[in-house]
Amino acid sequence: MAPLLRENGESAKLPDTVRVRAGPKGRIMRILVDMDGTLNEFDSHFILYVKKLGYDFDEYDFNHNGNWDISQFIITSDNQKKIMNTICIDMSFWDTIPPIPGAIEVLRDINKKHEIKIVTTPWKDDEKFRINKIKWMKKYFSFIGRNQIIFSNKKWEVPGDVIIEDKPETIVNSNEFMYTLCHDQPYNKNCNPDYRFSNWNVVPGILQKIEREVK
Ligand SMILES: [Mg+2]
Repeated sequence: MAPLLRENGESAKLPDTVRVRAGPKGRIMRILVDMDGTLNEFDSHFILYVKKLGYDFDEYDFNHNGNWDISQFIITSDNQKKIMNTICIDMSFWDTIPPIPGAIEVLRDINKKHEIKIVTTPWKDDEKFRINKIKWMKKYFSFIGRNQIIFSNKKWEVPGDVIIEDKPETIVNSNEFMYTLCHDQPYNKNCNPDYRFSNWNVVPGILQKIEREVK
């Protein structure tokens, strides 16, 4: 395998478990794809709901000093985590999150060639939240089958060659086991992925680079 350098110049040192297999349409990789903040517009939709509840949100600070805990940027003397929970237990919030532009078209394309698994952590470990995520996928990504959706909060333990993700902790932990593609967000500037992207349109090109890197 060609040495791969991460953003900080460190060698990626991937284990031998990363294999790119030969398939009918070329080389096949098992690609794990996150939902919130990667396939959907979690942040902007959350900010909309914060404002709906009558609170302000410090978008400047969130964009410049982003932090995984988005509730910290709700401008209020009330309990910020409680406000976040009120929003996130409201199923209409999850029903109405829009997909990220470009994600549908690109995922449809790479699903034809690679083995795609959607790996997601619902807000609550509860059937209602799992069903909601399945329905949302069916609505926007109808080409993804139910058997392609996995619920896990330790995604780095799910076998995969590549993970597409926005959560810093998941990127950091997955770096040891698979190629990491980080969807750029204000809170993940320092997680040192193999690749990052802000527009889904560049993802197929990154996957082709990885195919060439892996022998
Ligand atoms: Mg996410």
